[in-house]
Amino acid sequence: MGPGPSDVDPAVLRALSAPTIGHLDPAFLTIMDEVRAMLRACFGTQNELTMPMSGTGSAGMETLLVNLLEPGDRALIAQHGVFGGRMAEVARRCGAEVELVTEPFGQPLRPEVIAAAAEGKRFDLIALVHAETSTGVLTDLTPYRSIANRCGALLAIDCVTSLGGVPVELDKHGVDAAYSGTQKCLSCPPGLSPVSLSPRAVAKMTSRDTQVQSWYLDLGLIAQYWGAERAYHHTAPVNMIYALHEALRLALDETLTARFARHEKHAAALRAGLQAMGLALPVAEAHRLDPLTLVSIPAGVNDRAIRSELITRHGLEIGGGLGEFKGKAWRIGLMGSACTARNVLLCLSALRDVLKRAGHAVGDPIPAASAALD
Ligand SMILES: *Cc1c(COP(=O)(O)O)cnc(C)c1O
Repeated sequence: MGPGPSDVDPAVLRALSAPTIGHLDPAFLTIMDEVRAMLRACFGTQNELTMPMSGTGSAGMETLLVNLLEPGDRALIAQHGVFGGRMAEVARRCGAEVELVTEPFGQPLRPEVIAAAAEGKRFDLIALVHAETSTGVLTDLTPYRSIANRCGALLAIDCVTSLGGVPVELDKHGVDAAYSGTQKCLSCPPGLSPVSLSPRAVAKMTSRDTQVQSWYLDLGLIAQYWGAERAYHHTAPVNMIYALHEALRLALDETLTARFARHEKHAAALRAGLQAMGLALPVAEAHRLDPLTLVSIPAGVNDRAIRSELITRHGLEIGGGLGEFKGKAWRIGLMGSACTARNVLLCLSALRDVLKRAGHAVGDPIPAASAALD
């Protein structure tokens, strides 16, 4: 129950262990096509260029930025946690001029602040993190298309933790480019990064003056393998793609609507239990992210000691705080297959147990959590 990797369904582990076939085997090409179609459904898009990149979520981040930014391009990047900062770093390494808009960790992005930073200027790209796993903040994507339009920019988002856990809807929000990861709410092992680019983003990519500096992440080349040409670029991680195929099948079989409702309900139960224990939730209610909850560590409690007791006594992992929340808050994940009533109750009772053993009496979380689970 940390910030990922999340628990992997046994069916996905079985898919991972199927015999490895050739990356141009007709049976494998069918699996690739099905993966692309299922990814489009999860991303809420018709984008032709939708596929998983080899590598973890950060490879998806780097893919988008190296393909969409050329030296001298201007990028407006919003940072309200660790991952927005990583996007800015990668964009700078692409030679882009980066303008950074920052909000404190744990606070939402404010569209009016981003609009003000874009006002009267030209940008090639606006990028932001949809679900900040470092703080447990969800950003409403609604205002950003019109902001991007006003400064002529493409709109790119990080949806590593939102995909499969909360609605993403790229087409509805006019998002041009998005990347995700397999090990968060899709509950697949780490190793692939689904990406999707709108026709407008593809046009920017194909009208570049300079070559993409990364040969491995050059989408123009990789799309020739995932598209009709089936031209070899690099050997596809065949078994990981089986696993992603099965994970996507499970997600769509559950239906996205039911999956989002499951994350919402269990996150509400977890929060009710934490609050019944007297623990504070630093993120304002309207901006809380269901797959990841930030909870304050009570005064006098040793962060590391409690987390290591949780692992040794209860086999339970939760995440530590980052940035200004380091040592001050924990991050509890409820992602994909790990988002269950059993885990909510286990986490609450285990946390109460280790806090009590360390001499910190807290209230009983179970009645409030159970009521929310009914
Ligand atoms: C996990 C995560 C990443 C990085 O993904 P890796 O798989 O660790 O490379 C990027 N952005 C967000 C929001 C994440 O949660």
